[in-house]
Amino acid sequence: MRDLIIIGAGPAGLTAAIYAGRFKLDTLILEKMSAGGQILLSPSIENYPGFPEGVSTFELMDKFKKQVEDLGLGIEDKEALEISSNDKFYQIETQDKIFEAKAVIVSTGAKPKRLGVKGEEKLIGKGVSYCGTCDGPLFKNKDIVIVGGGDRAIEDALFLANYAKSIYLVHRRGEFRAARILVDKLKGYSKIKLVLNSIVEEVCGENRVESVRIKNVNTLECSEIKCEGLFVFVGIAPDTGCVKNLLETDESGFIITDQAMRASKPGIFACGDCVSKSLYQVVNACGEGAVAADSAHKYLLKQ
Ligand SMILES: Cc1cc2nc3c(=O)[nH]c(=O)nc-3n(C[C@H](O)[C@H](O)[C@H](O)COP(=O)(O)OP(=O)(O)OC[C@H]3O[C@@H](n4cnc5c(N)ncnc54)[C@H](O)[C@@H]3O)c2cc1C
Repeated sequence: MRDLIIIGAGPAGLTAAIYAGRFKLDTLILEKMSAGGQILLSPSIENYPGFPEGVSTFELMDKFKKQVEDLGLGIEDKEALEISSNDKFYQIETQDKIFEAKAVIVSTGAKPKRLGVKGEEKLIGKGVSYCGTCDGPLFKNKDIVIVGGGDRAIEDALFLANYAKSIYLVHRRGEFRAARILVDKLKGYSKIKLVLNSIVEEVCGENRVESVRIKNVNTLECSEIKCEGLFVFVGIAPDTGCVKNLLETDESGFIITDQAMRASKPGIFACGDCVSKSLYQVVNACGEGAVAADSAHKYLLKQ
């Protein structure tokens, strides 16, 4: 029986662990992939305070991990499959073991959303990708299409411009939602062509992506862009399957918390990208991780 189990070792979970360690709570962290979280899908981060030149995400997350390890906390490579509770404690079921804790912090983050169009699912890994950093080098001197209008779409378009021959940036609106400082950078790249007010209707190709069918939402005109890759950045979906039947969520599955990061059951807290909120960034994931650990500490003191 632990005081606290933290599920997910991204920026939110690792920050919660640093605070829990300093509160001297008997804490275990469960991580299903590798510690660091989804920010590792991006090569660098430019809007994390304290690094005016930007910082490599690997370097930054390695430092988070070191700070946790230096406090003597362990990270177990295990996926939490289901969390259940009785009146006194929580049980966390994994493939081969059941863990018990008096309090739980859920920091399971999110994963990229799919477009949901014909051909997408079939061609994942065969030209369809959700991670520029991971797959960019595979598209050296190739024509690619990027879909999205937020920070991630623009950041990745700028990154992929280091590899691709040409990039068609498809966005369903006439203006980008991304930060102006990022959008302005697009002007310096003649190989990035904007395809605005347009949506992807189909990803075409038998064994690999060969083209993408586009529809202009104003004129309803359809066209085809020949390409070898399609990168999709159209938002995130919460990774909250393990608490599906336990906690209150919004209609998209993001966990509902109060300001102290308390979820709908006493003793269970949530933070980071798995929470229902308006901004999904590293800086507030960390802040929420600190608040969740503080709330868990106060809850345990009362028990
Ligand atoms: C390409 C890209 C670029 C980005 N750029 C920026 C940027 O420039 N600036 C910025 O501030 N933010 C950026 N973000 C967003 C940022 O990465 C997230 O806001 C942040 O990582 C959220 O942290 P988190 O700890 O809540 O979740 P995550 O980072 O998603 O971490 C959650 C962790 O939980 C683990 N997990 C999930 N389910 C389970 C389970 N059942 N059992 C055990 N472990 C589990 C996952 O494997 C993961 O390691 C970017 C994201 C992407 C994808």
